[in-house]
Amino acid sequence: MISQDTIDTLRKAEVGARRLFIGGTPVDAQSGASLQVISPIDGCPFASIADGGAADVDRAVKSARKAFAKGSWSRAAPAFRKKVLTKLAELVEKHAGELAVLGVRDNGTEISMAYKAEPLSAAGTIRYYAEAIDKIYGEIAPTADNVLGLIHKEPLGVVGVIVPWNFPLMIGAWKIAPALAAGNAIVVKPPEIASLTLLRLAELAAEAGLPEGVFNVVTGRGPVAGEALGLHMDVDAIAFTGSGPVGRRLLEYSARSNLKRVFLELGGKSPNIVFADAPDLKQTAVVSANGIFRNSGQVCVAGSRLLVQASIYDRFMDELLKATAKLKVGDPLDLSSDIGAVSSAEQLAKNLGFVARAAEEGARLVTGGERILAETGGSYMAPTIFENVTEQMQLAREEVFGPVLGVMRFGTEEEAVRLANATVYGLASAVWTSNLSTAHRMVRAINAGVVHVNTYGGADITVPLGGFKQSGFGRDKSLHAIEKYTDLKTAWINLG
Ligand code: NAD
Repeated sequence: MISQDTIDTLRKAEVGARRLFIGGTPVDAQSGASLQVISPIDGCPFASIADGGAADVDRAVKSARKAFAKGSWSRAAPAFRKKVLTKLAELVEKHAGELAVLGVRDNGTEISMAYKAEPLSAAGTIRYYAEAIDKIYGEIAPTADNVLGLIHKEPLGVVGVIVPWNFPLMIGAWKIAPALAAGNAIVVKPPEIASLTLLRLAELAAEAGLPEGVFNVVTGRGPVAGEALGLHMDVDAIAFTGSGPVGRRLLEYSARSNLKRVFLELGGKSPNIVFADAPDLKQTAVVSANGIFRNSGQVCVAGSRLLVQASIYDRFMDELLKATAKLKVGDPLDLSSDIGAVSSAEQLAKNLGFVARAAEEGARLVTGGERILAETGGSYMAPTIFENVTEQMQLAREEVFGPVLGVMRFGTEEEAVRLANATVYGLASAVWTSNLSTAHRMVRAINAGVVHVNTYGGADITVPLGGFKQSGFGRDKSLHAIEKYTDLKTAWINLG
């Protein structure tokens, strides 16, 4: 882990005006415009990023296409790609402290989580795909004897990567690493409120020996730079993580332009189901509180709907409140903070809007529900729990993406399944029980991409992540993700 002294030094680093990264070098946006970067830690600006537009996106795509066509990456031996990406993973690890602190200044995630979840996990992801890429074979089809059917796996070409601000480096790496490992060239559009770490990653990739033009970054606003990337006629695929409405837009852009592939990892309203025979109620409560409140609830798989069996309801709520009260909200660059800042003042206002509506609709506020530490100028929110939440309420249906938990009680297993699946989303879930049969039945019954059993969150790069229903399609992580960035080509050879 990083030391507090190192953090305190790194937090003072000058960041200044950051430019786009195109063709292996920093460049200004054609318009010359920039956006202020405001830290949610204290509400103060500490850097600026270039406000990229359609002309910049076009320039980046052209640079990526040129690099792809040149073949010094796309047709390079997999062993070479492995060497460069392994070097990149090493550089990310070497600069882990710098990247973690920079990211926290940008988005407010507590450093105790961000250090592992951002640079260290991104480095692990890059190394995983670097190691995988020279172990993937093509195929020979089982044809008749007089022909030979070869199935080649080829990179797609130019891949656009659009990611959200909650874990830009980790989520970015889930897409960037397999896309690069497979030989594609990329254009990354980072989230406008947390672009700095992905810009730094592109610089480190150049230092690692990635040929120029293979990794481009266009910072800027979603509806401007993001839209231009989505509509570009020479982008072969978009790998996206973010909200449902923007995901729908990207599908629309694809239909209106060149039918580029679109892979969507969207939001969730994940049920966390506690049965009366949960192995250890106290521990279940601690993990459940972390499962919704860490990173101020800005986690796509957050367990934002808690379903508790009626017979243990009061006991469990007692433990949950104790566990929640122990979580310290504070300066995200203080190692002792369990929860940092909400990513922006706008997001905080949105969260408080959900709180007001939940109260209006008749849910009972058990704890939190308000902005705290306002004197810092930052965006901090108390972990918030509502009970008596019903299926019809906004809090049960819509993703808050903030530290707000809605609690419901259930009687039977059937009722738990019905409530769990009563959502348009299907990203994650959890079941707490000592009964193996209940656990397996629930794993089958819940419509979600991940079902945790007797834990919440936690996974590694070896297992896929992605949603059912309106949580999207296409999986990040694991060897399966490489399929998204490769195409199959058949060679049908007459052997005479
Ligand atoms: P968002 O959809 O507002 O933005 C995501 C990205 O899309 C940003 O880079 C943004 O600039 C860009 N964008 C915005 N408008 C665009 C447009 N018109 N065209 C192209 N690009 C555009 O999401 P957010 O607020 O940054 O992130 C929160 C959302 O992300 C939540 O819904 C959360 O659940 C989801 N998320 C999902 C996962 C997952 O793995 N499924 C992980 C993390 C976050």
